Amino acid sequence: MTLAAAPAGPSALRRHNLGLVLASLRESGGASRAELAAHTGLTRATVATLLDPLLTAEVLAEETAPPRGVGRPSRPVRFHPGGPVALGIAIDVDSLAVCATDLAGRVCAHRRVGGDNRGRTAEEVYAAAADLAGEVRRALGRRVLGAGVAVPGLLGDRRPVEDGVSATTADRAEPVVLRAPNLPALTGTRPGSALADRLDVPVVVENEATLGALAHLGLAPDFVSVSGEIGVGGGIVLGGRVYRGANGLAGELGHVVVDRDGPACGCGGRGCVEQYAGKSAVLGDAGVADVEALREALAGGDGRAVAAVGRAGTALGVALASVVNVLDVPVIVLGGIYAELAPDLRPALEAELRARSLQPAGPTVLASELGEDAAVRGAADAVLADVHRDPDRLVPAA
Ligand SMILES: [Zn+2]
Repeated sequence: MTLAAAPAGPSALRRHNLGLVLASLRESGGASRAELAAHTGLTRATVATLLDPLLTAEVLAEETAPPRGVGRPSRPVRFHPGGPVALGIAIDVDSLAVCATDLAGRVCAHRRVGGDNRGRTAEEVYAAAADLAGEVRRALGRRVLGAGVAVPGLLGDRRPVEDGVSATTADRAEPVVLRAPNLPALTGTRPGSALADRLDVPVVVENEATLGALAHLGLAPDFVSVSGEIGVGGGIVLGGRVYRGANGLAGELGHVVVDRDGPACGCGGRGCVEQYAGKSAVLGDAGVADVEALREALAGGDGRAVAAVGRAGTALGVALASVVNVLDVPVIVLGGIYAELAPDLRPALEAELRARSLQPAGPTVLASELGEDAAVRGAADAVLADVHRDPDRLVPAA
């Protein structure tokens, strides 16, 4: 093997400066060259050098407003309305979702299709996810910078990515699915390669609960998010950053034990939170087929439905009280079905938190506004975060 010469690409300083300009545009929603220079502390000449390739590539657009009054007209620079997007893909146990988010953080497209993935092989799941992403991409007709993939499983054994399609940032090299208790067909597979090969864009893969936490980053500097799906996912944010743990397993709230003699769990343990508060457990206990039927039963005061959601709230509260005592986070974010069920879930959950947490007033419990879409939104956000770290990706290779 021979060592290639260092690429004569833009320097780290240039990338840093470009990052400043893009962040300024994201915050302001649009700014003139003079304002960008003032905001970033860069010279107007440097700003112009940074902007030119992005204007040519139609990542940015500069308004051509007619001159008004005296002096030079101010022509704001914005993200191009037809500019590139990041795709988010969420592989859920009983559905697939795709969204597209632009560089300003706006969601430009979203699709979710129901369908149980438990009867499918991994290849079938990845093919269906790629097909859905392809549909969204064709309908949108915009350049795709990369795809983030939310997977309902534990990820590990990250391998450095070879040159080419599935390149991600080095610190998040491609993982294998170590274990997917609710979608065992995915165990041992590498979703990054499977989707990068089909979509021909860089792919970044993360656990769905980690991405769900990422989607809520602006809510508070320190919080724990807990998401109710077939599985129960948790994400930990400390100091404004998602905490992944040494092996990316941090936040596995669904398998916190609340009764050591409780029912057997797909993870091999017993009495895990998921056996009381997972979607299947709650719907089964309530004797209803889906979340809509559960909401109707709750609205009608159905005793069995009220008891099922109360039992879930108690199990979640017991587990979360311990989490709060370990991490001392002031905020808990309820996502997935817990966001929809929050009014009925809260009383039992908050009673346990108050009784068991050592915090004087107990943590604040918020219901996510993203609901079941937190993971897919976080998946697109992960790509955008990578792009903002390496903004040279915005200019297509010649
Ligand atoms: Zn378990």
